[in-house]
Amino acid sequence: MASTTSDSTTHPDCILGIDLGTTNSLVAICDERGPRIIPDDSGHRMLPSVVRFGPGGEIESVGDEARQQAVQYAERTVHSAKRLVGRSLRDCADDLRYLGYQVVEGANQTARIQLAGDTVVTPQEVSAVVLRTLRDRAVAALGYPVSKAVVTVPAYFDDAQRQATRDAGRLAGLDVVRIVNEPTAAALAYGIGMTGGEPQTVAVFDLGGGTFDISILRVIPKSEDEGQDDDDSTGFFQVLSTAGDTHLGGDDVDRLLMDLFQGEINEALGRTITFPAETRQALRLLAESAKIRLSSESETTVSLVIDSGEEAPHQYVRTVTRAQLNDLMADWITRALTACRRALRDADMAPADIDRVIMVGGSTRIPLVRERVGEFFACEPYTALDPDEVVALGAALQASIMSGLTRDMLLMDVIPLSLGIETAGGAVAKLIFRNTSVPARATEMFSTNVDGQTSIRITILQGEREMAADCRSLGEFHLRGVPPMPAGIPQVEVEFLVDANGILNVSAIEKRSGKRAGIQVVPNYGLTREEVDRIEAEAFSNARDDMERHRIVDLIANSRLDLKWIRERLEKMGDLLDDSYRSELEAIAAKLDACAVQAETDWRSVDANRFHTLKEELDRASVRMHEISIADSLRKG
Ligand code: AMP
Repeated sequence: MASTTSDSTTHPDCILGIDLGTTNSLVAICDERGPRIIPDDSGHRMLPSVVRFGPGGEIESVGDEARQQAVQYAERTVHSAKRLVGRSLRDCADDLRYLGYQVVEGANQTARIQLAGDTVVTPQEVSAVVLRTLRDRAVAALGYPVSKAVVTVPAYFDDAQRQATRDAGRLAGLDVVRIVNEPTAAALAYGIGMTGGEPQTVAVFDLGGGTFDISILRVIPKSEDEGQDDDDSTGFFQVLSTAGDTHLGGDDVDRLLMDLFQGEINEALGRTITFPAETRQALRLLAESAKIRLSSESETTVSLVIDSGEEAPHQYVRTVTRAQLNDLMADWITRALTACRRALRDADMAPADIDRVIMVGGSTRIPLVRERVGEFFACEPYTALDPDEVVALGAALQASIMSGLTRDMLLMDVIPLSLGIETAGGAVAKLIFRNTSVPARATEMFSTNVDGQTSIRITILQGEREMAADCRSLGEFHLRGVPPMPAGIPQVEVEFLVDANGILNVSAIEKRSGKRAGIQVVPNYGLTREEVDRIEAEAFSNARDDMERHRIVDLIANSRLDLKWIRERLEKMGDLLDDSYRSELEAIAAKLDACAVQAETDWRSVDANRFHTLKEELDRASVRMHEISIADSLRKG
């Protein structure tokens, strides 16, 4: 099984970051832009940690294909090797009933995998196949050989499990230069421990498909951490406690939904039928996809044709709401929170002692999970990075720290570029200005410019220019469910909050209706120091033009609101206005309208001062109309 490589031409600086997961694995690298996942040729970022061996013990397939055909070749397909790695057969007895293959005892009581055809492989050998596949993927993408990696393991892994993971690396032709705890990698990916600042206590909540881990970390920033050599170090990460459940995850939710569907099908058929393997597999996929859709939708419809053995197949159709799924998941989430309580107790802490919560694992996309975890720890969990990728990204960051590459990276102690939102006409309203030190907070009120708007899009921008198109978009969200109101009436308060780790939380609340929405982003991801310098220089050379354009765009938006209001009044007030006053107003309005139309077509052809004067002229002229309107309403009572 062992493979050797000749790495004499290895790129000296490159160290891979690898998340070797129970279900899926990922590889990442880090350059001055920050860490990024390396996908395979087809764009797949995750590699299922599944290997199928041939009848003679040869490797037949790895990853997606091996997983898809796992039911068909159950006795030759190895998944979840991580559950066995570095453990004795006795230690992993509890796990055996979840595995489709046979596990036997090898030398030193270690667990080994017995496959059909009398092939016996060690869990390390299986992990090595996964690691080698990831290394080959990286080599193909980078175009030069790579022989070093940082590999992550759960915080609770003992020495034997860590050593076995190193052995797997060696078998794959990789020098595992460091083993990093998964929660530590997740924290690093969010910039925690990368710069100075106060010590922080961090909870890493990792809920995947089949496992749940909660880890409590104490992070002492580098500057305050004396006694460490700092050529390749971050802050100091101490694992205060870990807890969890090795058999709790999204798969349980799939089973709960499956049981619900199955029960209803039986009820409809009036008898209990035993579903064949293919129907059970179809029901499982149906349940998982419904669960995933309900993370972004409030209800979804499932449908399946069941061949019940009777003449006509049974068509099962059902709508599932998010509220129904939430009810089904109540006990399941309670189990995870009970483990959180245990971890806190072991660390001698209360939820209020936790400064940050980091979400890891695909099941943390479930809104109820985010909500309940946020409530439990009384803080907004970190969700900005993909929860499936955050550990690999952190491993790549650790790798780049070790190879000295982070020196060129942008680390967060001040906000390098201004942050704001897009406003009417594509202009930018900046809420936090560059060089503000973190943490930072700003709020501003906005409104709508269209009548009856019930959904308001908020686009988060980064940069120094005045127009959205010249800035970097960091993300967007919609504030939905706003009751229809005339333009300019809704009061939308937008809050920007950048915490000490540089993570930006944007929230918007419509004050009249109380509707609220938000987003979390990591502003510095993908940004280099050179880019920051270039953006600043560009803003400087375009400053005059940009200011003029911003002014004109604002004038267009404000003139449109004024013109709309005046036209509505002119129509309503009929003969309350004398003809000459009416004509005077109409003439000024027509001039302003023409100027706005011209500015919309070509802003450069309009003189902003003249535009401003016209708008002021209309404002002054309409004062009388306003007064007549008030007097009329008073008279009518
Ligand atoms: P992991 O083991 O971290 O790869 O997580 C896999 C689990 O996350 C599986 O149970 C998936 O069904 C679940 N998952 C992935 N995406 C979503 C989503 N958008 N909503 C709910 N569960 C998800």
